[in-house]
Amino acid sequence: MAAQIDYEKCTMCGGLQDTRCVEACPDNALRVQDGRPVLTEALCEDCNECGKACPDKAINIPLEMVTF
Ligand code: SF4
Ligand code: SF4
Repeated sequence: MAAQIDYEKCTMCGGLQDTRCVEACPDNALRVQDGRPVLTEALCEDCNECGKACPDKAINIPLEMVTF
């Protein structure tokens, strides 16, 4: 598994260019593409730094995968 992004909740941090989840990810697993955050699952280590950084609570890690 990997981080799950809920696009219904994501507001792109209210329209920022440098989104918080992308900046928070230590593994460069997130990038902005076509105006929304996109995850490269193979790079994601389920650390939930993106989920903690998201102001919209739009990212969740399946609980059994959380590594902190
Ligand atoms: S859970 Fe961690 S590794 Fe995965 S996308 Fe979020 S910040 Fe990056
Ligand atoms: S931090 Fe949350 S609101 Fe901001 S771009 Fe990422 S998922 Fe969307």
